[in-house]
Amino acid sequence: MTRQTRADGSLRHLLTLEGLSRRELEALLDRAQAFVRPLGARPPSTGLLAGLTVANLFTEPSTRTRVSFELAAKRLGADVVNLEMQLSSRIKGESMLDTVFTLESLHVDVFVIRDAEAGVPALVAASVAPHVSVLSAGEGSVSHPTQGLLDALTIRQRKGRIKGLAVAIVGDIRHSRVARSAYHALATLGVAELRVVAPPALLPGDDEFRGCARYTDLEAGLRDADVVMMLRIQRERMLDEAQLDPDAYFRAFGLTSERLRLAKPDAIVMHPQPMNRGVEIASEVADGPQSAIRDQVRNGVAVRMAVLATVARAGNGATA
Ligand code: ASP
Repeated sequence: MTRQTRADGSLRHLLTLEGLSRRELEALLDRAQAFVRPLGARPPSTGLLAGLTVANLFTEPSTRTRVSFELAAKRLGADVVNLEMQLSSRIKGESMLDTVFTLESLHVDVFVIRDAEAGVPALVAASVAPHVSVLSAGEGSVSHPTQGLLDALTIRQRKGRIKGLAVAIVGDIRHSRVARSAYHALATLGVAELRVVAPPALLPGDDEFRGCARYTDLEAGLRDADVVMMLRIQRERMLDEAQLDPDAYFRAFGLTSERLRLAKPDAIVMHPQPMNRGVEIASEVADGPQSAIRDQVRNGVAVRMAVLATVARAGNGATA
């Protein structure tokens, strides 16, 4: 039993992708794939989570993650409550745990938590009743597990595989929970080469991203890549944001069509959004034929359905 599994080894919480086996990751991706529908088709709708209640507790801004968790839960038949944490009692000093215990008394079965502070999802997971599950929707710069899964799913769909690919993660890696979760997923799923590409100040610490090649030159880092994963500049996590000049950053690290030509001709471009167009990525690339950015958003709902269906499988009355 780990901090996110039950005694029988099944997944109870999703706090991180670190430590999940290849088999577990592939099972989640396969399950998510079964929930993907083309745009224009009706999204899947099941009663798998009927009678269960999912609460979204977000203390950091979110568009895609919050909406897609809500849609995922509703499409599985759950009741959903969205707590606007800015308006809730937390600003009156009520701790996150008191809020969670209040909602637990109101029959919430699954908590989806985003917080700027490292450790909050794990603290909640360690404190809730045994039938309750906790899903991280982004923990500081530590991890964003459902984003890592949707990124892996997008690559698998567009390239037909993950094994053997060269993936370049480019930008503000130091502050990025997206990069950390992508690293955990892709390394376990057998990517051939994972590169982290950033100016020296935005590279991760030496004890992280083991086995990844490090580049401080964008053009060298892009060469012959199959996947280019761009990251947002996270000014809110920078202590000295005055140092970052957006125009200078774009000149050195912005992904333009010309630079993209250094990657493989069929390379795909990803970005978790929100995008700073003209800072880390040019619009011609974000909206161009190699962009998989909208697929990432679509896959977000499918992945979150798969995760909800998986954690809710045992212990709280739902059957899958
Ligand atoms: N939306 C992603 C996150 O919450 C990426 C970003 O904000 O840059 O981490």
